[in-house]
Parts: sequence; C-alpha cells; structure tokens
Amino acid sequence: MIRRAHPTIHPKNTGNGGEGQVSRLIVHPTAGGRVRGAHNCGSCDAEVVAAIERYAVSGELEEFDGLSCECEKAWAEEISLEHALPTPLGISKTRRGNVLDALRAP
Ligand SMILES: [Zn+2]
Repeated sequence: MIRRAHPTIHPKNTGNGGEGQVSRLIVHPTAGGRVRGAHNCGSCDAEVVAAIERYAVSGELEEFDGLSCECEKAWAEEISLEHALPTPLGISKTRRGNVLDALRAP
C-alpha cells in the first residue's frame, strides 16, 4: 500500500518536508507482528514493522530497501489465487501459529 501511494504523496520523491509533497502518510501497524495485528511469517515481522514506522517519519521508500522474505512470494500467490477464485472467505493457508492461539485474546 505504501509503495502504491508514495508516488501520489511524493510526486518528486523528496520525502517528508520535501518539495512537491502533497500529503503525509502516517502508518503505525497496530499489534504489528502479532496474530491480531498486521503480520507476515513471523521471521520478518519486526524488520517490516520497523521499516513502516521509519517510513512514516521519513517519507522515503528507501526505508524498505533490502527487505525480502520468502513469505512475500507465498502471499502474492495467495492473493492471486483469491482473485482468480471467488471464495468469500478466501483460500489462504493459515498464516501462522496455532488456531487456538489465534482465537484467544492476546
Ligand atoms: Zn516473512
């Protein structure tokens, strides 16, 4: 979402406070890295959440440079399949963790 919105917010790619900035995107993932919040595979969560929070301050896409994890390919494939097959609740595998833990309040 940030990568898609960035060119609209920063058409001159100057970061927060830079010339041509249209708006400011402030993102702070609630419960980032936890099952009840935004999360990925578990091994890359902390780095991704930290990069998102740095972006909210800097407005620079370079905050995401060097971030990569195998789970991004699996996620992209799951999204592609969900768009191809009209299933109301999706067909993605359980993202991680024990189902009972996911159902309990954190
Ligand atoms: Zn990952």
